[in-house]
Amino acid sequence: MKLWELLYSSFGNRCPRCHKGKVFKTDNPYDLKNFDKMNTECPCCGEVFEKETGYYYGAMYVSYAWMAGWFIVTFTINSYFIEAELLNYLIFFFVSVLILSPMTFRVSRITWLNFFVKYDPEKSKCIKPQQDLNQ
Ligand SMILES: [Zn+2]
Repeated sequence: MKLWELLYSSFGNRCPRCHKGKVFKTDNPYDLKNFDKMNTECPCCGEVFEKETGYYYGAMYVSYAWMAGWFIVTFTINSYFIEAELLNYLIFFFVSVLILSPMTFRVSRITWLNFFVKYDPEKSKCIKPQQDLNQ
């Protein structure tokens, strides 16, 4: 797993195997009625996204890691450049975590998928026409 493959797949809502099909049905993480709706399998290569019951429990740890990274980055920027008081920074941090939570949910699940599914350029030749990729 290369870093750019992980980032492209996770932040682009793309299947980790083919990088063409979409994992989530909608690209908008702030479509709050549908942001968590996943395709059961990749519309392009047929990779199954729901491997077993409880498969995505591990994504909670990935979510924790992404948020720890967010904390480190924002805390460092605040400490060296902005120098806001600690309470103001903490308010900013928790509000930003709330605002980012739909995106974190999706990115964490796709990152978790990337741990177990390797990118295969041969699979990127879709068997279905391009317009069916949005299912
Ligand atoms: Zn795919």
